[in-house]
Amino acid sequence: MRTLFIGDLHLSADRLDITHAFIRFLDTGLDGAEALYILGDLFEVWVGDDIAAPFALELAEKLKQVSHKLPVYFIHGNRDFMLGKRFARAAGMQILPEITCLKLYGVDTVILHGDSLCTLDKAYQRFRKLRSFALARWLYGCLSKKRRQGIADKIRRKSKSSNKQKSDTIMDVEPNAVDALFAQTHTQHMIHGHTHRPAIHQLDNGNKRIVVGDWYEQGSVLSVSPEGINLIRLPFDSAPLPHDPAQ
Ligand code: MN
Repeated sequence: MRTLFIGDLHLSADRLDITHAFIRFLDTGLDGAEALYILGDLFEVWVGDDIAAPFALELAEKLKQVSHKLPVYFIHGNRDFMLGKRFARAAGMQILPEITCLKLYGVDTVILHGDSLCTLDKAYQRFRKLRSFALARWLYGCLSKKRRQGIADKIRRKSKSSNKQKSDTIMDVEPNAVDALFAQTHTQHMIHGHTHRPAIHQLDNGNKRIVVGDWYEQGSVLSVSPEGINLIRLPFDSAPLPHDPAQ
């Protein structure tokens, strides 16, 4: 009995090796799992369910099969906050609120993508605030497909170049924001991604903050069971691909 958490896969048509590694994980890595939580940034960029890329639609079918065996939950990340009900339904994923609390084998646990904890990154927090307005999202959805694709490309390019200039402190979580969320949610464990710094942090007050890793160079899976917490590294070349593109 265990519950699995992943995040920051940043799947895109440019990196099908990551999609293949993810599919391999779905085929072989779910033994004994009773639920799979995807903590955001499953996709590198998402501009609307109506213009989902072919690889994303194939993946949806795969996830749908998985969802017949165990529940698959999804929390939006900053890259795929536009992922909507239509794609979620196709993928058999249940969308959870941005901040969700669960009782995990007796431990009160809060799960989230993690971008909201990076409060020192003022420019990004301003964007985040704007993005959450229902109207802004609706207006964005009214733009033509081409326009949305263009905006998404621009955001991606800009975020890539600006992240290089930001210092480590800004890109990591802000300890006060972490404390505040623990206090607000009355939880002992926090699980998030976004920072791409996989770790199990034991805090002074006995709480734990667990960070899932990204999937750029290798896979990263967090397994939580009554016996303990494990961050597992999945090398991309550990086994033959289940769907070899050469075949
Ligand atoms: Mn993120």
